[in-house]
Amino acid sequence: RSKAHRVEKQFSRTRLSDVAGIESAKRDITEIIDFLTNPEKYRALGADMPTGILLVGPPGTGKTLLAKAIAGEADVPFFNISASEFIEMFVGVGAARVRDMFDTARKEAPALIFIDELDAIGRSRGAGFGGGHDEREQTLNQILTEMDGFEGHESVVVLAATNRPDVLDSALLRPGRFDRKVTLDMPHKEARKAILEVHVRKVPLDSSVELGEIAARTIGFSGADLKNLVNEAALTAARLNLKKVNNDCFERARDRIVLGEERDAELTH
Ligand code: ATP
Repeated sequence: RSKAHRVEKQFSRTRLSDVAGIESAKRDITEIIDFLTNPEKYRALGADMPTGILLVGPPGTGKTLLAKAIAGEADVPFFNISASEFIEMFVGVGAARVRDMFDTARKEAPALIFIDELDAIGRSRGAGFGGGHDEREQTLNQILTEMDGFEGHESVVVLAATNRPDVLDSALLRPGRFDRKVTLDMPHKEARKAILEVHVRKVPLDSSVELGEIAARTIGFSGADLKNLVNEAALTAARLNLKKVNNDCFERARDRIVLGEERDAELTH
């Protein structure tokens, strides 16, 4: 098959310790890690693992990160596609890529498949998308066909991420498909502190920096925003030729991020 149809196999070095503040989601996925690490144990007991798991949460809450952490902890290959990439494709290419990815994952099993932005192709059919035989629908049908083809004892787990579970086609949520849901919430104060702690690991902090206080002042920030905040603060310190990142750098970084978002909001209004 041509290269355009191929989804590259990846290995992940992400660990669960890189994921913070979403403790209940982390608890929910420990069984998946155990299954991928030791599928024989489940097979011997005649226990079938659910094939499809939906990761539901707002943008930047760590859905991709969690998927990578599962692959990293279980030390299995990771196949990643973003459903939005199929929208612009020629008819048939998306379905071929999906087929190729599932074939390869089966050969490499135990393995993890991650489909980002599932709602881009998984919207309820007939809900405004023209025709009915477009690329989106073909790709979606191929995913459903592949998942129905699993025998239960195949050690391939399919994770799919969405921030719009409400628009998903009900066919996706049937038993044997994405019949389990793991929810990732926006981080509250303690969670934001824990996420900041992950991202300052390699950052030399001045004694003026209180992560608990920064967490209190970043209401509405996602994990991705907090990562960005730490990086902006470090860049500010570099601009000022400091050896350590101080509280003022965090203040400036926070203002820049918050004001930047306000400016973006104005432009779109
Ligand atoms: P999207 O829906 O926009 O694709 P997502 O939920 O998949 O977002 P990620 O892409 O996983 O979010 O997050 C982007 C980055 O933000 C991560 O690589 C990580 O560095 C940081 N991040 C997000 N959530 C967390 C978290 N819970 N703990 C630590 N870091 C996080």
